[in-house]
Amino acid sequence: MNENLRLAIQKKGRLHDKSMQLLKSCGIEVENFQDRLFVSASNFNLDILFLRDDDIPEYVQDNVAHIGIVGENEMLEKGLAVKPVKQLGFGKCSLRLGIPEKDELKSIKDLENKIIATSYPKILNNFLDENKIKAKVIELSGSVEIAPSLGIADYICDLVSTGNTLKLNKLKKSFNILNSQAVLIQSEKFNLSPELKKIFNKLLLRIESSLKAKKSKYIMMNVPKDSLEQIIKIIPSLESPTVLPLSNKGLVAVHAVINEDKFWEINEDLKAAGASGILSMPIENIIL
Ligand code: ATP
Ligand code: ZN
Repeated sequence: MNENLRLAIQKKGRLHDKSMQLLKSCGIEVENFQDRLFVSASNFNLDILFLRDDDIPEYVQDNVAHIGIVGENEMLEKGLAVKPVKQLGFGKCSLRLGIPEKDELKSIKDLENKIIATSYPKILNNFLDENKIKAKVIELSGSVEIAPSLGIADYICDLVSTGNTLKLNKLKKSFNILNSQAVLIQSEKFNLSPELKKIFNKLLLRIESSLKAKKSKYIMMNVPKDSLEQIIKIIPSLESPTVLPLSNKGLVAVHAVINEDKFWEINEDLKAAGASGILSMPIENIIL
């Protein structure tokens, strides 16, 4: 029997598109998935379940889905028997305290005896316990940011990326409780069959190569032959750079794969050393 690996992803919301893009970058094709709860990939042994993100940890724990993509915040808040397998580098946000603009929190100790509204009571209570602070945590399932102006809480603890929602509600960012991003999760209770394990390993390898590629750039430049040695020293290449002859005999072309952050760091040095026509291009996949 040919069993498919079942992956749960968010049906609609902030993680949906990036999760689908990740599959695409792994060469996995999924057609006509709009408005469906379940779909099979056309070229990989993978079934995809579209769920609310809140439900994903439980589905994975109970092996209804073998793996899932969910925010670390959601995984930790549910506190179920699932484990993170791989951080996926998207859906980045932080769970922070939000306080009225006019207030000042000098230290975490200032939270003592305050009322804090949140959708993440478990994570917040853990944080308060770790810091030995007694505060009252009230759970709200949405629109947490209006709690202070309604007078039902002093502060809030909510997911923040830009802080614009806080601003609209006359709140500002305070202490950071958790940095979160999307992760691939797996059940702690169930082991995959050997056949599914093979599919899982294949998928993981593709995910890893796609993540690596996203962080890398393919760079190309023309270099005077005399400066070649010096320029090669500047390039923090993944492997030895490629040097190609050009019709202009005094020049060679140098190609290399480097970390994206490094591109901006070395740009000036390359130019100063005589490189010209420096190009950088995205890479789809890197198989090492
Ligand atoms: P669902 O209908 O699936 O329950 P939701 O409304 O609970 O959706 P979204 O707002 O789509 O969830 O957020 C999903 C996840 O995206 C969050 O749990 C978090 O991990 C991540 N995320 C990234 N940036 C933000 C942000 N600025 N605010 C909230 N969540 C964010
Ligand atoms: Zn949700």
